[in-house]
Amino acid sequence: MKIQAINGFKDILPEAAVRWRSIEQCARDIFERFGMREIRLPILESTELFVRSIGESTDVVEKEMYTFTDKGLTMRPEATASIMRAFIEHGLHVQQPVQRLYTIGPMFRHERPQKGRLRQFHQVDAEIIGAVEPQIDAELIAMGQMLLDTLGIKVNLEINSLGCPVCRPPYKQRLVTHLQEISSELCDDCRRRTLTNPLRVLDCKKPPCRAAVADAPSLLDVLCPECDQHFFGVRQSLELLAIPFAINRFMVRGLDYYTRTTFEFLTTDLGAQAAVGAGGRYDGLIEQLGGPKLSGIGFAMGVERMALLMEQQDKTQWPSEPMDLFVAALGTESLPLCTRLTHELRLQGIKTAIDYSGRSLKAQLKQASRVQARFTLIIGDDEMERQQGILRNMASQEQCPLDLNGAHHQLAERLLEALR
Ligand code: ATP
Ligand code: MG
Repeated sequence: MKIQAINGFKDILPEAAVRWRSIEQCARDIFERFGMREIRLPILESTELFVRSIGESTDVVEKEMYTFTDKGLTMRPEATASIMRAFIEHGLHVQQPVQRLYTIGPMFRHERPQKGRLRQFHQVDAEIIGAVEPQIDAELIAMGQMLLDTLGIKVNLEINSLGCPVCRPPYKQRLVTHLQEISSELCDDCRRRTLTNPLRVLDCKKPPCRAAVADAPSLLDVLCPECDQHFFGVRQSLELLAIPFAINRFMVRGLDYYTRTTFEFLTTDLGAQAAVGAGGRYDGLIEQLGGPKLSGIGFAMGVERMALLMEQQDKTQWPSEPMDLFVAALGTESLPLCTRLTHELRLQGIKTAIDYSGRSLKAQLKQASRVQARFTLIIGDDEMERQQGILRNMASQEQCPLDLNGAHHQLAERLLEALR
């Protein structure tokens, strides 16, 4: 029996990895323009961290976490909680009151695998901690939008406000009353959630539930003056930055820690996997985890979903990185020289390939084309005798002699010159 990768865990093959790297590089470039700094975090954390931050009655904590129950450890299902843990643990706010941090890496959730939904998936995650102004929310959203635009991924941006501990509890009460009135129209899950996590009912994907909650009260109608003003400020700033958005009165997020602004970047091209990225403000989270009373906002983008959308929009195969030079050692005489020279060139930063098999020139030239070498250096017995190799330009097929005399580094220098 062949051993295969487990369900929901996927290999990223070299061709795909090229695209992944370009996504990651693009994220780094853009985030750094916004003053974000990278943080790298462990994959295993105390289970308690996620229970306390994400919330006990969320889907993620209830049924999606990979937990080592005997050790009290969990493979991170998201990055925000870990960033907050590190932020508190290292007192990062003392060093700099506003921290802008990002991280890129794998997350783990036990979900039903489908296109764009895996059990190990990857996120690009960005957080701004310690700033309360609505312009910050708009700036962060604009950064996410800039990343997607730069990658050529088309999305619709939806925003909402989830209020704060002042306006949310009375709203929740009103919502529970309403949901109880319409409970016969809701699915079993939603009937249960009516008491455990009523906001989540608004977010149920099942069409009967969607129809049933269509005229449920929205938190937007009962925001406290501070939250209302904050949300107004976010909209105004987004307009100022010319970022198009729609308000989704019923958007709730799957994690309990959100307050005020929430947002999603949505696509219609990935079936049920509508969100490419999402995030929001979490003003009480850091304090709740035992840290200072500081607010924050962040988002996470799914790398698999970004890569899938890029593939759908651009069918061209991404070429792998071309090599600068292919060293064709013909016969056995030239092999030591070619071996040593190849190493020397790699030391000098030249992407060099070599074939040790002593195969025919034809076979080696074919191999040189396969690795997209710009040049091939041909050295056989005759060339050794004359101390003159042949340098072939693979595109023009022009050939010129190359003096093989002198020390290895001198030869490497002559080659460097010729390759320029
Ligand atoms: P969904 O509604 O699709 O389950 P979510 O609300 O659970 O998404 P978040 O926790 O907000 O997702 O994570 C942010 C992003 O991470 C998502 O928009 C998505 O691109 C990606 N993501 C989340 N879960 C998965 C998964 N299981 N497989 C692949 N990507 C995922
Ligand atoms: Mg989910």
